Amino acid sequence: MTVLVTPKALANQTVRDFKMLIDGKWISGNAAPIERVAPSHGVVVSRFQAGSKADALRAIAAARKAFDTGPWPRMTASERSAILLKAADLIAARADELAYLDAIEAGKPISQVKGEIAGSVDIWRYAAALARDLHGESYNTLGDGTLGVVLREAIGVVSIITPWNFPFLIVGQKLPFALAAGCTCVVKPSELTSGSTIVLGEILQEAGVPDGVVNIVTGTGAEVGAIMTAHPDVDMVSFTGSTGVGKLTMTNAAQTLKKVSLELGGKNPQIVFPDADLDAFIDAAVFGAYFNAGECCNAGSRLILHKSIASDVVARVAALAKHVKVGDPLDPTTQVGAIITPQHFDKIAGYVAAAKSAGAEVAHGGGALDLGMGQFMAPTILSQVTPGMTVAREEVFGPVLSVLTFDTAEEAIEIANSIDYGLSAGVWSKDFDTCLTIGRRIRAGTVWMNTFMDGASELPFGGYKQSGLGRELGRHAVEDYTETKTLNMHIGSRTNWWMPRT
Ligand code: NDP
Repeated sequence: MTVLVTPKALANQTVRDFKMLIDGKWISGNAAPIERVAPSHGVVVSRFQAGSKADALRAIAAARKAFDTGPWPRMTASERSAILLKAADLIAARADELAYLDAIEAGKPISQVKGEIAGSVDIWRYAAALARDLHGESYNTLGDGTLGVVLREAIGVVSIITPWNFPFLIVGQKLPFALAAGCTCVVKPSELTSGSTIVLGEILQEAGVPDGVVNIVTGTGAEVGAIMTAHPDVDMVSFTGSTGVGKLTMTNAAQTLKKVSLELGGKNPQIVFPDADLDAFIDAAVFGAYFNAGECCNAGSRLILHKSIASDVVARVAALAKHVKVGDPLDPTTQVGAIITPQHFDKIAGYVAAAKSAGAEVAHGGGALDLGMGQFMAPTILSQVTPGMTVAREEVFGPVLSVLTFDTAEEAIEIANSIDYGLSAGVWSKDFDTCLTIGRRIRAGTVWMNTFMDGASELPFGGYKQSGLGRELGRHAVEDYTETKTLNMHIGSRTNWWMPRT
């Protein structure tokens, strides 16, 4: 554990003040700003405007006007695509600044965030390419008297609400696709990690996105987010966050029957058979559980191990977990950073305590790591976990791995599918029949085989069950932000229904 930048040194750096972007203007809110304390260093690093309902209403009105009368939806796809490509280049040019903001506000390792920014650049470019391929269908097969044309039209004003765990990456899974379709947007980042999203606003202005097309309102979910999910002038809500707030979003949106896209929580299993490449799996288990300090919807937080290998695997995972480098997110060699807030740390610790009371054993870690600053947690492994325990069913959202065991493949599938979540899963076996059988039976949006948490802009991402609704990324991502319209055209004289033709 190293500390590269001391809290005192960080506190001496200028705290960055951010504004909100509404209708092309950078504005301040009326309330005292929200101060973000770096979770790693315990000192204030950013100040965000505490946006109000009135700010959210102004942003929605600006997005509505930009959609109904502005140039963005009326441009050619090629023009929109060129602007998105320019945005991608500008993101790449400001990658270090964006990475620093996410690292310091979210407590994420700087080397990891640099990878996320590079991934975002790829997604923005992918969305730019998809913009030009968005098209409908034609039906020339409906008889001599009919031609059918199916149009894809931008859905309208989209509210985009994002969480704190991947601040820049997640806005990039939504916004470029909405823009590619010709939509206008109001974006609300998490009040804890708004910095990189606000810099994105500057980038989009520079890239040539017209005023009012992207509005960024900072502030709390209760004040700003609630109105963004309920207002009648919003046509669609794209939300990533907890399952609880996702349900609230759907309830709010239901009042005006908005389209809703939800990316929510996960409790993702990795099922391991005795014939698996265990060397590869041990590394993937540690990566899956502790990447982003486990504050990751895709975390592989449940190991479901064949009984014959369980004790050996637990010992090997624990041995490797000892080497995971937890520390200062600004140190380029750090692998795991800080826990987002002291309150969230307490929640994670509460899950560990409850699991111990229920009979689980701590095979590694289990508590805080003292760096003399911020809040850090040791990579933790809980063995002797049974499927009914809370820690086996609920999302901990911290570096806590629960180990369960099985005798038969049927039992493994039953345990994997027995919870409310269905975001992702992993299966490990050298027998591809085993992998495919399990892969087809698991109810999850992504199943990795002999790997874990790989991804690509081309591959759809989203959840079954209470992990969400809809998919992001992939070649249909732009279509999600469209309405379908049928043009039914008659050719020649029409046969009347009532009045006979003379
Ligand atoms: P929250 O659900 O608390 O917050 C997500 C966003 O919703 C934040 O911007 C938040 O604002 C906002 N929000 C809060 N209350 C409301 C409301 N009443 N109306 C509208 N918006 C609201 O999640 P966290 O930020 O705590 O993120 C962690 C959770 O997100 C985890 O459960 C995780 O699994 C899930 N997640 C899922 C992902 C997926 O792709 N499936 C990816 C990443 C995270 P604010 O906090 O500023 O008040």
